[in-house]
Amino acid sequence: MIFDVLTIFPDFFVSPLQEGIIRRALQDGKIEVGVHNIRDYALDRHRMTDDRPFGGGEGMVMKPEPLADCLKAVLVGDMPTRVILLSPKGQLFTQATAHRLAAYSRLVFVCGRYEGVDERFREKYVDEEVSIGDYVLTGGELAALVVMDAVSRLLPGVLGCEDSAANDSFSCGMLKHTQYTRPRVFEGTAVPDVLLSGDHAAITRHRFIESVKITLERRPELLADVQFTAAERKILKKEALLSRIDTLVKEHRTEHHSAG
Ligand code: SAM
Repeated sequence: MIFDVLTIFPDFFVSPLQEGIIRRALQDGKIEVGVHNIRDYALDRHRMTDDRPFGGGEGMVMKPEPLADCLKAVLVGDMPTRVILLSPKGQLFTQATAHRLAAYSRLVFVCGRYEGVDERFREKYVDEEVSIGDYVLTGGELAALVVMDAVSRLLPGVLGCEDSAANDSFSCGMLKHTQYTRPRVFEGTAVPDVLLSGDHAAITRHRFIESVKITLERRPELLADVQFTAAERKILKKEALLSRIDTLVKEHRTEHHSAG
């Protein structure tokens, strides 16, 4: 996977790409990252990449020409590419978005600053707008790093253990179960016995129930889209969780039906 980033602050990307799994993915050639300074494509001698908004109003807007010229210089070759504008007005980024984007060969991130980018650049060159949450950042660089990180760990060979991403929160539609490591007792609290039992079926069952309980407590709306198997429904019934989930799903569907 090739990531290309268009930014006026290229140094932003130096340290985050030199740590942990992302550093190893770069070293192993699983990902490539090109950071491109939009300022190098500015037309005037002051290397201006922004200007005042037409119609007045606060702040500055990123000019379309340096953005377009920078993008054109990056878009060489014909590999499947997605041009992504990071923006609080975009579609909310989720694990499902990360999976979808991981199928491309190249992702190009356009990092906005100030009040954002000229609308004509967005219309002509951007394939999709992505927001990493309902809040406003000072620039798109952190958002680009978030998307890059989440997509990278889904690529073959990037994580040490291939099952890791498959068992993450959201990948199975629910939040991940609780986890423990040594020592067996920490400040008077022991690790659940079942995890020390060596009984893998019991451990899987315990973790499944934990996962359902955590999701019920923290993000119940996620359960509306989970398809439980007959065996799982049997476990949930035994744990007195099934009727709560069925009621919740019914409520969720009614809400969506009346909202639509
Ligand atoms: N005035 C804009 C608005 O209200 O929609 C916000 C501009 S923000 C200060 C500057 C840049 O930060 C944006 O162009 C975008 O690239 C980035 N940004 C801010 N919040 C973001 C978010 N939640 N997700 C992704 N990018 C974001």
